[in-house]
Amino acid sequence: MNKGNNTIINILFEWIYVFFMIQVIFVLLLIGEDIYSGMKESGKRNTETETALLSRDVGKPYSDWEKSPTGSAKYLDGTTVFVSIFLEDTEADWTPADRYLVRKNMNIATDYLKEEGKRYGKQVELIYDTNEHPDLEFHMKYGQPFVEEEEGDAYTDMVLAVYEYIHDEIPVRDIMKEYQVNSIGFLCFADHTASQALTYHYGTEIDSYFYPEISFINLRWESSGENVNPTTYAHEILHLFGARDFYLSSERYGITREIVDYVVENYETEIMLGYSAAGIDEKDRISLDITKLTAYYLGWLSYITELDRFPTMAEKNPACFTMQKDSEGKEVYQAASRLKLEGSIRQDLYFAACGIFIVIQGIFTMRKLNRIRKRQLKYN
Ligand SMILES: [Zn+2]
Repeated sequence: MNKGNNTIINILFEWIYVFFMIQVIFVLLLIGEDIYSGMKESGKRNTETETALLSRDVGKPYSDWEKSPTGSAKYLDGTTVFVSIFLEDTEADWTPADRYLVRKNMNIATDYLKEEGKRYGKQVELIYDTNEHPDLEFHMKYGQPFVEEEEGDAYTDMVLAVYEYIHDEIPVRDIMKEYQVNSIGFLCFADHTASQALTYHYGTEIDSYFYPEISFINLRWESSGENVNPTTYAHEILHLFGARDFYLSSERYGITREIVDYVVENYETEIMLGYSAAGIDEKDRISLDITKLTAYYLGWLSYITELDRFPTMAEKNPACFTMQKDSEGKEVYQAASRLKLEGSIRQDLYFAACGIFIVIQGIFTMRKLNRIRKRQLKYN
């Protein structure tokens, strides 16, 4: 009787000990993970993007149209086709010199993106040259004068007309088949003097009608009267692939005032800081960089140390603008999502570890009880 009680107490202690050990191992795992994530930045490949790239159905163009959260321009890695739309509004007067300027800027911008991609080990292929590929050039008649964003409704009408034009007049599917690509971006050029260039990227919360991603680029700047330079072209194209602006804060995309200040302070050559912020005007080259901050948003890097300092920078899917939903289907900003994401991975790890230990310990207990029963049988 005494002996039996002792055995039960022993087994109880063993279980308590095992439970304690699970906690210790889990804490060690967490510490290890934090140390590891610090080292990851330099060497680790972006597995999430790699997987996404592998599954993008190369050779099956259009297959994931309206399904990928990245929008029509997918990853700045592999091949993307750019369609040029020259806006023929009532005030436009496209001269051969204007069109030459657009092509020249596109040439410099796309070469720059390819070279920057190489620095991060990415193979960027961009097909855009309308001389070589006349089927990528379109002229959209618009029966109104060009308007700027401040004009409100008239501006919205113009932007919607461009979407409509893409849907109705551009054989997107055929172009993607022809060039064997699953990634396509649209560049709308206006013969206009304007105060800004703009990109309409796709966000998962937007209606699928807006799946085609469009950059609007004007010929000249209102402020200086100078031609818009290739740096702006590259900047706008980067937006098509998920790059965020760093020259202004945006609650929607997790770019806080602190992040803006930090980038200005620490990454002054970052191209997404904006042309005016850098205060340079280069007509024949681009000297700004795609720093690791933009590389993160493009999906070229899966981790940057800034994520620990500014958790609102974190993006669930690389190369796009995602609004994430919480368990009740409400849209939340990235900060909350990242914590949730990390929490759930850690929770899974914890429960898996508990499960394994309980099964192993259960087997030991059963064997022990069996032995005791056999011994008791012998004495009986
Ligand atoms: Zn921008």
